[in-house]
Amino acid sequence: MRDILDVHTHTLVSGHAYNTMMEMVQEAQKRGLEVFGITEHAPQMPGTCHEFYFHNLKVVERQYGDMELLLGAELNIMDDKGTVDLPEKELKKMDLTIASLHIPCIKPGSRDYNTECVIQAMKNPLVNIIGHPDDGRYPMDLEAVVQAAKDTHTLLEINNNSLNPRSFRQHTRENDTEILKLCKKYQTPVIMGSDAHFYTDILNHCYALELMEEVDFPEELVVNSQKEKLYAYINKNSL
Ligand SMILES: [Zn+2]
Ligand SMILES: [Zn+2]
Repeated sequence: MRDILDVHTHTLVSGHAYNTMMEMVQEAQKRGLEVFGITEHAPQMPGTCHEFYFHNLKVVERQYGDMELLLGAELNIMDDKGTVDLPEKELKKMDLTIASLHIPCIKPGSRDYNTECVIQAMKNPLVNIIGHPDDGRYPMDLEAVVQAAKDTHTLLEINNNSLNPRSFRQHTRENDTEILKLCKKYQTPVIMGSDAHFYTDILNHCYALELMEEVDFPEELVVNSQKEKLYAYINKNSL
C-alpha cells in the first residue's frame, strides 16, 4: 500500500516524548513523507504544554523541501458533551486536530457513555480525526461510532501504537479488526497513525498494515495513500 503521510506524532513538548520538532521533521524528510504532522497533547494532559504553545504555531515554517508540515493538537475529550480542552478560536487556526480519550483526563464510563463522548466530539466540525478509538478500556458501540464518523465526515484512526503488543491499551487488535470490517461495510475512510513519541517510530504503520491485509481492507479507504484524500478531512489553515 502506498503510504506517504503520518500526522499523529509528539515531541518533547508533550512531556512524555523525546525529540525536538526539528529532529522529527528531519527524520520525516529522510523517510520520504509527503505530509508530516505533529499533534502535541492539549493542555489537560499532565506534563504537556500551555495553550500559548498552540497559539503561536503560526511562526513555524510549514514547507521542508517536498514535505509539508502540519501542526495541530491531540485534544482530550473531556465529557459526553464532546467537550475538548482548547478553545474554538485556537482550533480554527490549526492545520488539523485529533481528539482522543485519555485516562488522565476522562475515566471510562458505561459503553453508552464512552460512545456518546466520542460521537459528540465528532459532531464538532473542528475535530478532524478520532485518535485510537480501539482502546478497550473504553468499551464502545463501534458500529455507532463508524456510522457517526461517516455522517460527520470525521476520520477514524488505526493507531499503530495501540497494536504494538507492548501497548497499555486493551483489546486493540479485536477492536481494530471490528472497526476495519465496519468501515469496509459502510465505506468509511480511515487514517493510519504512528503516534510516534520517538523519531524511530515516524511512519511506523507496520501493525496497522498487517491487520488491513488480514481483513482485506480496500486501499481506496485509507487516506495515507494520497495527500488530497487527507486534505478533504482537515482544516489546513496554514495553507
Ligand atoms: Zn492519544
Ligand atoms: Zn498521541
